[in-house]
Amino acid sequence: MVHCNDSGLGRDSELSPGIKSTYETLMSNDTVIRGLDFMMADDERTLNDQIAICEIPAPTFDERVRGRYYMERLSELDLDCVEMDSAGNVFGLLEGSADGPKLLVAAHLDTVFPEGTDVKVACKHQMYCAPGIGDNSRGLASLLSVIRGFTETHVKPVGNVIFCGNVGEEGLGDLAGVKALFRNNTDIDGFIAVDGLGSRDIVYLATGSRRYEVTYRGPGGHSFGAFGVPSAIHAMGRAIGKIADLKTPTNPKVTFTVGMVSGGTSVNSIAAEATMLIDMRANATGGLSEFEAKALEAIELAKDEENARWQSDSITVHVKLIGDRPAGSQATDSVIVQAAYASIQALGNTPNLEGPHSTDANVPIALGIPAICLGGGGRGGNAHSPDEWYENVDAYLGPQSIFLTILGLVGVEGVCDPILPQRGR
Ligand SMILES: [Zn+2]
Repeated sequence: MVHCNDSGLGRDSELSPGIKSTYETLMSNDTVIRGLDFMMADDERTLNDQIAICEIPAPTFDERVRGRYYMERLSELDLDCVEMDSAGNVFGLLEGSADGPKLLVAAHLDTVFPEGTDVKVACKHQMYCAPGIGDNSRGLASLLSVIRGFTETHVKPVGNVIFCGNVGEEGLGDLAGVKALFRNNTDIDGFIAVDGLGSRDIVYLATGSRRYEVTYRGPGGHSFGAFGVPSAIHAMGRAIGKIADLKTPTNPKVTFTVGMVSGGTSVNSIAAEATMLIDMRANATGGLSEFEAKALEAIELAKDEENARWQSDSITVHVKLIGDRPAGSQATDSVIVQAAYASIQALGNTPNLEGPHSTDANVPIALGIPAICLGGGGRGGNAHSPDEWYENVDAYLGPQSIFLTILGLVGVEGVCDPILPQRGR
């Protein structure tokens, strides 16, 4: 999960009477309670899975080995139709008992750590340390425990549940795995991403981002001998100046930065090439497109001004989109948010409605499909750093709250009907 430090939007949500009664029914059912007890007893096995998963390297764009391992685990757990798609996502189906909604529950396989990173897990005083131990080995392991909760205690969902390990969540992966899943499966009614730690946070708002690589090119030449030709660096400097002056709204928040620049060959050369990377983010699609249009205009204008300065047309600019995560929002009284809220409460905890983040849930949220991101349980810190750590404290609450959320959404045979609506097919 990419944290955007934009918390504070969470408000307490009142549960609707329908959701309340569904969760009262679920929590007074013996089979459901057996499932929850199973996950508590499954805690140590889940931790062992987490360690085993962490020790299989899975850099974004190179998740194959971990993906194959996870696919084998899904097959062992008696899911149907276990397969890997062409993007590298692996998934299996827990078939429902009747016609009902189709829910996709996914944890990302990839890590931000490059090939060659030492991913061996070290344990000291109950603290487990390794890059990726929490994000997202915990999410992947929690999902396995949730699946066992269904298959080993025979809790039968009404709707279909697809469990998935997906590729491409981090960085330049650009949510490629989940984008492929929603491109190839147009009949999914709801989505839960399981990412990172904790068992109280509900992410239901999506921070969108667009990222560009912008390259200016020109003739270049000696700083003295060729003086009089336009410079790629000067053109890019003009663009940066214009972008830096752009004003953005604070609500909904829009942010931007030129995060990296490179170019030129020496101090006494007119630069033939210059490149910059720009990141822009927003919590609403409109604000993002508006800023993007202004930034792209500034980039073109900078080229024209540099050419005009030297009565030339030799500077060109090439703009390449290198990141696209859609923005979107949902109401706190939407069924999927309420189901997660009721589940966390039913386990005796206080739910926390998080501010907007960038997660795999961005993709369905932007498509108008109900979606949230939940933690896999436990606690830890230093995600995305080589010093990442994890403590297995009350960790079973992660799988339990995911399990309960699923049950409410897709229903349980003979116990309660699904509350997640089926979209028009
Ligand atoms: Zn993550």
